[in-house]
Amino acid sequence: MYTDKRKIIIAVDGFSSCGKSTFAKAIAAELGYIFIDTGAMYRAVTLYALEHGAIRSGIVDEEAVVALLGDMDIDFRFNPERGASDIYVNGDLVEGKIRTIEVSNCVSPVSSIRQVRGKLVAMQQAMGRKRGVVMDGRDIGTVVFPDAELKIFMTADPKVRAQRRYDELRAKGDDVSLEEIEANVLSRDRADMTRAISPLRQAEDAIVLDNSHMTVAEQMQWFRERFDEVMRG
Ligand code: C5P
Repeated sequence: MYTDKRKIIIAVDGFSSCGKSTFAKAIAAELGYIFIDTGAMYRAVTLYALEHGAIRSGIVDEEAVVALLGDMDIDFRFNPERGASDIYVNGDLVEGKIRTIEVSNCVSPVSSIRQVRGKLVAMQQAMGRKRGVVMDGRDIGTVVFPDAELKIFMTADPKVRAQRRYDELRAKGDDVSLEEIEANVLSRDRADMTRAISPLRQAEDAIVLDNSHMTVAEQMQWFRERFDEVMRG
């Protein structure tokens, strides 16, 4: 673990399913930083909207989602078994329910609602106030922390990404097809890049990491070199 007392903010943005969370979690563990998965927050709002009738047959009722926002209290609690924080809504653990294909299919329209972003971005900024965080998402280096000292933009071949997400869901016992996953990954990228508010884009000062053919160990080595460069100033 690094002993440098100067804690920074590390923003990890990029396309769907390129291993941002795995990478960000590993970095946070190495540095003794807090890891925050902002996608989990958008997924938690989507799950709540599905469970409370604000999304029916895949159609998102924006006004109904906004009306529910005030009733939602989102928080993270550290789970030592996972080495990461689990997400709770109104005290209920929802971590295991937010990564289904149903939530994935509705999360992009929910995350394009201005009031949803307003609430979640404010929470994310509050969580990073003391610095020493690794935050992964789509707009961390551009909107949430434009002053982050280290910004990483992750990408990988869409076929590799779909296969990774497929393996993950099948391992959990979900009955999904590779075609369905690939279609979801591509349509979420498109929606996230073209939305009006805080679209997914690479910050000008971000460093690109294409991990299509890299192991986690190779990605960590790449990261250490970048981190040392930043800390040396
Ligand atoms: O990271 P993950 O794939 O779990 O994110 C789910 C969705 O949440 C993304 O497809 C995107 O629509 C939304 N999101 C976002 N801004 C973030 C993080 C996620 O709009 N900072």
